Amino acid sequence: MPSFDELGLSQPLLRAIEQAGYTEPTDIQAQAIPVALNKQDIIGASQTGTGKTAAFALPIVDQLIPGTKPQVLILEPTRELAAQVEDQMGVFGFYRPLNVLLIHGGVGYGHQIEALQNNTDVIIATPGRLLDLMEKGALQLDQITFLVLDEVDRMLDMGFLPDVRKIIDKCSPERQTMFFSATMPGAIETLANWALKDPVEVEIGGRRSPAETVTHAFYPVGMDQRDALIEALVIQTGFESMMIFTRTKKEADTLLTFLSGNEGINAVALHSDIRQSDRTKALQGFRDGTFNVIIATDIAARGLDVSGVTHVINYRVPENPEDYVHRIGRTGRAQQEGDAFTILTADELDQARAVEHYIDQKIDRKKVEGFDYNYSALLDDEPAKPLRKRRPPKRRR
Ligand code: AMP
Repeated sequence: MPSFDELGLSQPLLRAIEQAGYTEPTDIQAQAIPVALNKQDIIGASQTGTGKTAAFALPIVDQLIPGTKPQVLILEPTRELAAQVEDQMGVFGFYRPLNVLLIHGGVGYGHQIEALQNNTDVIIATPGRLLDLMEKGALQLDQITFLVLDEVDRMLDMGFLPDVRKIIDKCSPERQTMFFSATMPGAIETLANWALKDPVEVEIGGRRSPAETVTHAFYPVGMDQRDALIEALVIQTGFESMMIFTRTKKEADTLLTFLSGNEGINAVALHSDIRQSDRTKALQGFRDGTFNVIIATDIAARGLDVSGVTHVINYRVPENPEDYVHRIGRTGRAQQEGDAFTILTADELDQARAVEHYIDQKIDRKKVEGFDYNYSALLDDEPAKPLRKRRPPKRRR
């Protein structure tokens, strides 16, 4: 593995990397940074938590000459991810100050429109609001020479693809484009073929494999005991920092109320019905340890980087096996150990099998010690074999 100073980055960037505490590049950084510095387009498939942000941000900061118009556009599917990339830009640009502007919905237009009039170099945005501002005539993208499309499969899931196309279309044709997606369904491949020029492919690890440092387990239980079991599991687990994923916003709110009465649990919820300012506070509080449990819908599943998440619990088996990989990607990041537990009820058996098939790994079934389980066939160690009718012995004549 090459060291950071062999990748072609300049001194101010190497100093910023040292300050960030990174000692050696991750795989994706070692592969992508020299290609990006060589001004080639990149198409990257990478597991979450592999250092993807630095892989695209470092070469951009290195090559950028601050000017008067936005030259860099980074598109992210969610506000939280956009804010996270903004933080990292601040770290990498420490010795190369740049004007970075975050653009996303859920907040007023005034500040964003005003800031666009003042020499912005880098825009980090979610597609909806960016397009709004373009349509209002508040910004042009014709000087965008670095374009990053991050978590593209997530943007597709969220219905952003038509917006993303319109945005790309307005960027300078003389640009460098970096495209990252954990999965490459046909629609994304078509978009990539249209948006990129002779891209170099960078693929780290199996597209399907969750972080290797994560231990997985299913906790089967009867449907009537799902809440009681998760409570017992949370209490019994020696966690420092835990993310719990629910399928719906209502489940997240109900579970928050249910768990909040317990000693040692300082929980907060995160989903799209919560005001943006409260979402920011929730995430900030989770990062700084004010909250040790965050209960979230999938809005928080992709790419969010909270260091030191020791446990992830799925309140239900995710309907989409890819979401399983993304959710548990919140733990075991950057080679730390983590645990991922999933509550499993009888109606979710097909989804559980789909997850195991997708990650090509059998997930252990476990029980919470001392928990007073009501009987469920799921709990049988040896599933009952179907009874066969015995044939009556043939009569001998
Ligand atoms: P990302 O995949 O970009 O979300 O990064 C995941 C986490 O790994 C973030 O907390 C980064 O700060 C951290 N990270 C990225 N690159 C390195 C590196 N070379 N050494 C140590 N940590 C890193």
